[in-house]
Amino acid sequence: MSLTFSKINASAATLTKNRTEGSVVPASGMCVTCVDGCIGMCEIGKSAYRGHEVIYPQPFGMVTAAAEKTYPVDYSHFNIMGTAVGAHGIEPDSDKAIFPAVNLEIAFGHDKGIKYRCPWHIPGIGSTNIAKNNWEGLAIGSALAGTGLTIGENVVGMDPEAVIKNGRVVDTADLKRRVKLYKDHQRDGYGAIIVQANVEDTRLGVQEYAIEKTRS
Ligand code: SF4
Repeated sequence: MSLTFSKINASAATLTKNRTEGSVVPASGMCVTCVDGCIGMCEIGKSAYRGHEVIYPQPFGMVTAAAEKTYPVDYSHFNIMGTAVGAHGIEPDSDKAIFPAVNLEIAFGHDKGIKYRCPWHIPGIGSTNIAKNNWEGLAIGSALAGTGLTIGENVVGMDPEAVIKNGRVVDTADLKRRVKLYKDHQRDGYGAIIVQANVEDTRLGVQEYAIEKTRS
């Protein structure tokens, strides 16, 4: 038996459709008959006509997007059976096993110096407007919850107020704002604000700038 996990070459994320929706080649995601004169409704066709508009989910700056691929395994296939592998929770006493007694704290890092009140972390949300426009909620909420939040890639490179001298960043507006919003609401040292870096960030010295200039 062979399975394909490819999807058709069309998505609501890019506002694309196959012309022959009921007959699609699994390997390519293209219509079984790709016709001369099609105005380009699938991703391949639309890319040829509209170019860069198909790179990002649309409407740009207003949406977040998730993967549509059907993976052979997902989280619904797992059961957490903690006690079976030696994890024991609170005493099985109805007066003690109450909601306020739940403790989800974790500590990690080489010296266990990073503490979270809850074991989750929001991954990199970077230079897009969707991140910028919603940063107050993300930063303040994460900080108050004592969890982690990542500033994604290229925030400095996309900041029109960033000051760059000799190829290195010396001042920013957006990165400073993002870190400050988090730190102003952080309590008792729980949680962490992380700066993710790509090649451009590394060349600009964003990590060094973030550590030296936005910590206090
Ligand atoms: S360009 Fe070809 S594959 Fe794409 S929608 Fe048109 S006919 Fe189908």
